Amino acid sequence: MTISNYNFADKKAIVRVDFNVPLDENGHITDDTRIRGALPTLKHILAQGGALIIMSHMGKPKGKVNPKMSLSQIADAVSAALGAPVQFAPDCAKAQEQAAALKSGEVLLLENLRFYPEEEGKPVGIDKEDPAYDEAKKAMKASQKEFAKTLASYADCYVNDAFGTAHRKHASTAVIADYFDADNKMLGFLMEKEVEAVDNILSNIKHPFTAIMGGSKVSTKIGIIENLMDKVDNLILCGGMTYTFAKAQGGQIGNSICEDDKLELALDIIAQAKAKGVNLVLGTDCVAGDAFSNDAHQQVCPANAVPEGWEGMDAGPASREAFAAAIRGAKTILWNGPAGVFEFDNFTAGSRAIAEAIAEATDNGAYSLIGGGDSVACINKFGLADRVSYISTGGGALLEAIEGKVLPGVAAIKG
Ligand code: AMP
Repeated sequence: MTISNYNFADKKAIVRVDFNVPLDENGHITDDTRIRGALPTLKHILAQGGALIIMSHMGKPKGKVNPKMSLSQIADAVSAALGAPVQFAPDCAKAQEQAAALKSGEVLLLENLRFYPEEEGKPVGIDKEDPAYDEAKKAMKASQKEFAKTLASYADCYVNDAFGTAHRKHASTAVIADYFDADNKMLGFLMEKEVEAVDNILSNIKHPFTAIMGGSKVSTKIGIIENLMDKVDNLILCGGMTYTFAKAQGGQIGNSICEDDKLELALDIIAQAKAKGVNLVLGTDCVAGDAFSNDAHQQVCPANAVPEGWEGMDAGPASREAFAAAIRGAKTILWNGPAGVFEFDNFTAGSRAIAEAIAEATDNGAYSLIGGGDSVACINKFGLADRVSYISTGGGALLEAIEGKVLPGVAAIKG
């Protein structure tokens, strides 16, 4: 079923959202992006005369009640965002009566799902090495099913709009779907958009396709790099991983960050790109600093000849131009990870050059997907969020999807 085709009139919908919003020490929301992200789905259901049972996790309470992670703290903000009163269920597994009493247009917010270990389905208080672990895991999986069944019993239909947790097989993100038939479970609008975005860069690709992978380490990106290798025309590898590649090829990198145990891997990536006809664009020069600080002295030097006592912290002018050239002509663009230590204002030039080239290509009709916390932060920092096609809300979920893994939250609904 799709959310657009479903008739929510007089139906109770249990909706998994990602309201894991950051709070300050007084419990006030410091960034409500995730709440705003779920509004199209929630408002659509209310507007059609449905009743809403909203469920989410917040933080990592590890299966225990923790008032600092109570969703009661955000009930007023959810109410204001929805323009409707929000009732609160202080125990998500004991909300039968409140759910049963809900009328069309009414909203019930359940307490943090992760106050129950059943949500994540991992046994607590027992070590993986313990001989009794497997038994405990089995028992927990059984109680996870019971927990999911209880949640499912509150509603007529299930909507998953929590892309941020779609890579987890939790009670509320996947297991619950087993208790609804195919006509009564669906993805929310946000999930639909995320799934479509991933499809645009993995299946429905318009060439040339340029992927830009940055950030600090090659090891955390290798799954994505390998999955993209068969799809991209241009692969820009930048940021901290530049120096692992430079060292692997015999360069001097001073104090630049480097994964010494990934030098072989770097050479293998270079060989794979060559064999597959992928234009691999690595940084050739860099802006080095004499300290890891915004106020460090700077010098531009080759990425494979960084002087002792200096470290490469941003892409140099020649690299920026090469990156921009590979981006400008693209019709599909994926960006994950900054090209330098963009948190320091004096080392943002590489990331800015990438962001600007993406905006320009998008203006010219390219499809651009920005994903992963830091590249999203970059695009926002440079004020270019409106000039890209899509900014993903999911960190880990997006990365796993781009690696080509099936997301349990999506599979539970789409099969
Ligand atoms: P990741 O979480 O792997 O995507 O990495 C993001 C982080 O990489 C950001 O905090 C950047 O500051 C950092 N980063 C990017 N380029 C460099 C560099 N040349 N040296 C050190 N850190 C970097």
